Amino acid sequence: MLELSTPIKFVKLVGERIAVELAKRGVETVEDLLYHLPFRYEDRLNPVPMSALQAGTMASVIGEVRGSVLLQTRNMPLFEMTVGQGLSTVKCMWFRGTYLRDKFHVGQMVALYGKLEPSRSSAGKFKMIQPQFEILPSGGGADAEILEVGRIVPVYESLGGTTAWGAKLGSKWLRRVIWALFEELEKQGGSESLRPLETLPQAMRARLSFPGRLKALKSVHFPDAGTPMVELMSATTPGHRRLIFEELFYLELGLELKRRRMREREGTAFVTNVKVREAIKQVLPFHPTAAQKRVLGEIASDMRRPQPMRRLLQGDVGSGKTIVAMQAALVAIENGYQTALMAPTEILATQHYLSARKLLGEVLSPRTGKPYRVTLLTGSLDEATKREARGRIFRGETDLAIGTHALIEDKVDFDNLGLVIVDEQHRFGVQQRFRLMKKPGALDPDVLVMTATPIPRTLALTLYGDLDASVIDELPPGRTPIVTRRTTEERAEDVWSFVRKQVEAGRQAYIVYPVIEGAKDDQPELDFPQDPEPDAGEASLRVAAGSSAAMRNGSEKLNAGKKTNATKSKSTKTKAAKLSSKTEKLFEPKKALRAATDMYEELRLGPLGGLRLGLLHGRLSADDKDVTMRRFQRGDLDVVIATTVIEVGVDVPNASVMVIEHAERFGLAQMHQLRGRVGRGAAKSYCVLMTGGRVSEQAEARLDAMVRTQNGFELAELDLQQRGPGEFFGTRQAGMPEFRVANLIRDRALLELAKVEAARFASEPDPAVSSEEKDAVWARLKMQWQRKYGLVEA
Ligand code: ADP
Ligand code: MG
Repeated sequence: MLELSTPIKFVKLVGERIAVELAKRGVETVEDLLYHLPFRYEDRLNPVPMSALQAGTMASVIGEVRGSVLLQTRNMPLFEMTVGQGLSTVKCMWFRGTYLRDKFHVGQMVALYGKLEPSRSSAGKFKMIQPQFEILPSGGGADAEILEVGRIVPVYESLGGTTAWGAKLGSKWLRRVIWALFEELEKQGGSESLRPLETLPQAMRARLSFPGRLKALKSVHFPDAGTPMVELMSATTPGHRRLIFEELFYLELGLELKRRRMREREGTAFVTNVKVREAIKQVLPFHPTAAQKRVLGEIASDMRRPQPMRRLLQGDVGSGKTIVAMQAALVAIENGYQTALMAPTEILATQHYLSARKLLGEVLSPRTGKPYRVTLLTGSLDEATKREARGRIFRGETDLAIGTHALIEDKVDFDNLGLVIVDEQHRFGVQQRFRLMKKPGALDPDVLVMTATPIPRTLALTLYGDLDASVIDELPPGRTPIVTRRTTEERAEDVWSFVRKQVEAGRQAYIVYPVIEGAKDDQPELDFPQDPEPDAGEASLRVAAGSSAAMRNGSEKLNAGKKTNATKSKSTKTKAAKLSSKTEKLFEPKKALRAATDMYEELRLGPLGGLRLGLLHGRLSADDKDVTMRRFQRGDLDVVIATTVIEVGVDVPNASVMVIEHAERFGLAQMHQLRGRVGRGAAKSYCVLMTGGRVSEQAEARLDAMVRTQNGFELAELDLQQRGPGEFFGTRQAGMPEFRVANLIRDRALLELAKVEAARFASEPDPAVSSEEKDAVWARLKMQWQRKYGLVEA
């Protein structure tokens, strides 16, 4: 008897050996296999007759093989095959297609999927470059007939591995296995026998009109004949929606539970009396904006409560989060508690340390009548200094401890930690955040996490779903919008003379590069995923294909086609993106990237000669970075030439120019952060985006957006769409939930629904839901959270 938890090796057609291969891809049980959903479908029930095909579209075509030939071009073998239907034909081409030579024979029926290009010669003739194909059964087994033609056919991402006779375990194989699996399950008594494995209460399903789980799975794998292709391709059939909802529901339920648990925990109830307010007032260097006031109000009211605060503070770059954080710190300190402030980089931690000293240094605490005690603790300090700092923190001789990750290392014990502030939270992983929130002591400290990357709502609902949120949606007064311009490397001279003029006017500038040194640098500073360099073989493709310009067009169109394919699962999507950028890059002349160290020399000796330049990148020692940053801050340097180490938080109000070279290489969030380094003072500020080399379609969209808007949320949405949730924050998030079915970009409405339903389920005892069903939900939640996020406590 098969159950969802039955190991995959017991499934018909699988067996021990293949099971081992599937396990490598995370498919270990019947359930895993059932959740390996098709990423697209082919309508082989009503295929469009070839004569009605439209050039320029992605198309499924069924036809018979009319002939094929392997051409030996100068650089590589090219396999050409003609597939026809009546008078219409499609000519297919595969580069390096030697392996296809013996695969086809005349008369065979094949299904093709790819981008249709018009053929020059005549109407009714088309061309497909590297289409996906499947050889259709010719009067073979009935099973095959049912599965491969005359129906809507699911197309799967391969799970890797081969059959005993060496054939690839592709779509066709998966179709047969999954089909057989459903047959077996149905023989066992169909979905009825699996009813205990239903994961959503009947009443909820009825209310939301969702089919049962097994029925939903079946309909997604093998859609009924009447199912609209549009719904299938956009994953909006009732079956799809149910499966997506289910996945999101359990995520949201887990977050909801976390929130509830937190409210039951015991934290510190800080008081915010006149004295505390006085302490805050005396350090404020300016009038807070209305938004800052509101947000501080929200934070203070959290802090007054006896439950621990868990709050996310979002505010665009330059919106003034730091001062709000300092005010919160003062609330804790004036109550006699310690505050820990963590930043993702040493530069930032040091900067916070310096500004905290400046802010707090000149005043006395109304409570103690003594100065505030601030301690810096970062990894690069020498051992003795670190030991000393830890001692002061441990003995309670520090009010405010500022540092990097070193602060949450187990060695650091606080005397009485009341508040933890995490700056630029997105740089820390989610797991790290959870760990941090569990820091020691009988009472939970309050936690305030701050992020300057505006977080699109879908991500806020998932990644930060366990936090309450505050938003600073207003910039401090007196800021003039930053003027953003695009230009190319060819016009560099103009840019440098502009930088000179600004420096002469008393301003300072940043010039940012994607790499530290040399074209072959491993690019450690750039967290926007880079495409691999084309190897020599690929480069020769250009020559073989004749005019490279013509090919470039071809590949661009191909890419565009790929992008419109909305139903791709996440991994296929990234794969497709990789592939398309690879094709893009194929035709890009190899060009040296300008690097920070080289350009530092070049600019120093050339166009920016005579100005005081500094160099800043991740391979410098912490001391060197520090010295440079301080000199820039003091105005002893005119221009800093840097990599993205200056991306987050760095605050030098006199800097008014940000030049980003190879802007086409940077992600949106990153560019937005970089631009946020200027426009911090009253002077008019400029951001110059310089491109060198070919600008891909996606990069084009990013640059346009940068010029068009300064609204961080708008840019964040576009960034999310371009890169997907996993890559959104630049570096892959530790603990970012991976979804089997759901797609945060596509399924926002279902996510909102899941959140509402999760809250409802957790709070209202619904008489229509049996206690058995409830227990099943909680059990599943526990299992899922354990498996996915490694969090036992859910
Ligand atoms: P971010 O939110 O990016 O961390 P910061 O806290 O670094 O922004 O603040 C950006 C700049 O704006 C700093 O120079 C800060 O001193 C200044 N600032 C913050 N709040 C105000 C305010 N209410 N009025 C004037 N200047 C402010
Ligand atoms: Mg900041």
